[in-house]
Amino acid sequence: MNGGVDTLQNMEVENIDYDKVTGMQVNYYLSCKTKLWLYSHSVSFEHTSDLVKLGRLLHQEYFNSQRKDVFYNGVAFDVIKPNKQIIEVKRGTRVRECDIYQTLYYLYYLEKHGVKGFTAVLTYPRARKKLVLTLGDKERKHLDEIVNGIREIISNPYPPPPKKKKFCKGCAYYDFCFG
Ligand code: SF4
Repeated sequence: MNGGVDTLQNMEVENIDYDKVTGMQVNYYLSCKTKLWLYSHSVSFEHTSDLVKLGRLLHQEYFNSQRKDVFYNGVAFDVIKPNKQIIEVKRGTRVRECDIYQTLYYLYYLEKHGVKGFTAVLTYPRARKKLVLTLGDKERKHLDEIVNGIREIISNPYPPPPKKKKFCKGCAYYDFCFG
């Protein structure tokens, strides 16, 4: 393991509420487990990444005034009010499994708390793609496994070793993992 990750040995691990798994954690579980651990332990360099800033701008532009932030029992997501639609906006152009499951997780989470009647929409404005997602038994089962996997990973005192992927260059943790 490299120097960046080694410095974590000297950091105090914050108290984590393991019951409140977020959509972003679901995304990171499927895209990079090292990132999941770092993000969950509040090791954050996200604000320094231009790609992250671009994502935020896109997000703000897309929602404009129709957006309503919902913070339900510790998990935050965006809802377009009149349609009861949960919206997830992505800056990429390729539909990815991690984005699909992040979006589905909001439906799953609400369902677990007895809240029904919402639909989930995953949108990639730059690619003009929009997917309407529904939760079936297969997705529910997969999300059960994902939530358990997330809890297991973040309960470890150290992150899983970084593995280089195509998208690492655009990741805010790049220097941390490979610098
Ligand atoms: S740089 Fe790569 S391995 Fe490191 S956290 Fe980011 S995506 Fe994961």
